Amino acid sequence: MALTGIQILKMLPKKNCGECGIPTCLAFAMKVAAGQTEIAECPYVSDEVKEQIGEASAPPIRTVKLGGGDHIFTTGGETCQFRHEKRFENPTGIAVLVTTEMDNAAVDGRLERFKSLRYERVGVMLKADLVAIKDAKGDAASFSALVKRVLAEAEDAKLILISDSPDNLAAAAKECGERKPLLFGATLANADAMAKIGQECGCPVGVKGQNVDDTVAISEKLLAAGLKDLVIDTGARTVRAAFEDNVLARRAAVKSKFKPLGFATITFPCEITDDPMLEAMVASVLIAKYTGIVVLSDLQGDTLFPLLLERLNIFTDPQRPMVVQEDVYPVNGPGDSSPVLITCNFSLTYFIVSGEIEGSKVPSWLLIKDTEGLSVLTAWAAGKFGADMIAQFIKKSGILEKVKHRELIIPGYLASLKGELEEELPEWKIVIGPREAGHLPAFLKEWKAAA
Ligand code: SF4
Repeated sequence: MALTGIQILKMLPKKNCGECGIPTCLAFAMKVAAGQTEIAECPYVSDEVKEQIGEASAPPIRTVKLGGGDHIFTTGGETCQFRHEKRFENPTGIAVLVTTEMDNAAVDGRLERFKSLRYERVGVMLKADLVAIKDAKGDAASFSALVKRVLAEAEDAKLILISDSPDNLAAAAKECGERKPLLFGATLANADAMAKIGQECGCPVGVKGQNVDDTVAISEKLLAAGLKDLVIDTGARTVRAAFEDNVLARRAAVKSKFKPLGFATITFPCEITDDPMLEAMVASVLIAKYTGIVVLSDLQGDTLFPLLLERLNIFTDPQRPMVVQEDVYPVNGPGDSSPVLITCNFSLTYFIVSGEIEGSKVPSWLLIKDTEGLSVLTAWAAGKFGADMIAQFIKKSGILEKVKHRELIIPGYLASLKGELEEELPEWKIVIGPREAGHLPAFLKEWKAAA
């Protein structure tokens, strides 16, 4: 049973020292209760209390980390069935499969695509996260050699090691050093050996069930052996079965606190179909419902990019708009006679507007006013983008020192603010910009020609 913030507060030292990064013990306790921070952030809590609170406030789906150093992949940690209830925490990991049966060119191609298919959107780098390395021949030497190659060639890849042989997994895991891989997969027959290896090398273990019941039995056995960090595969190899098992596991963990299924799932669209397009569609279903890691047979931009965007959409916090910082942003190396534009800090607006300015090649200053993530019209309607607030921002933003002229381009949707703004900023000429960002390049070129 989860503890409340007040129950957690009673166990804290109540120094209100702020060393946990939160000013008071009460605020810290509330955040721990909400699953927004870890009890271990308070340096003054005893190990006993840490364990007690950690267990009670742990999310129903265990948080599991792979990798090491700057390259960590986190899965699980989910606390709700539906995104609108709160939010989904850790984005589905996208993995590409390489096996010891593939020739060099096939492995090279996959690793190259893993490294090169990267896209920046709204300030976020979208990319695949993991490489799944399969011991397809049951041969320790070729398996370890492939692991070494991936470690050397894909430096930020988090690894999943797949083998039927616990010994081969143990040998390959040693090659990984600090880059802790997921060791896949434990069956009822080898669970004892897998538990031993998982504990010895401190790596999470993947459960390789044949069905849900089998998965539960293996998971219980590993938990009884003292392993905590698991990822589960229910053995489903059709899209319907994988979908149903994912929903069942999530519901059992979140609603019934059923521990043997309280782990992120790993699914294998690469084993469900040979058709790349169908494989991407299967992956998209499983990303939406609720797989922790999805393993693909290959990466291609035309199917990977939509999956990455789907993931980005699902794993943003619906309660918190994406924002950029209030500031003056130089675009295309502006000078003191460059145009000055202003817009809101909703990140989508920022990236669209700055992208269009960049595309115009006209050096410009882009002022981003904090509107708490609301878009232009919504912010204006909510009283967060009024003339008085814009004027205040202009005065304190530092733009007065950056430009000689006094001409401010406002979004076309705020045309009605022109008069008020001219009163608030008497030295400035207020110019109404286009309504749509797509018209900015032509507008800026005209502005430049007229200046
Ligand atoms: S570090 Fe611990 S004692 Fe200090 S404010 Fe945070 S919770 Fe309280």
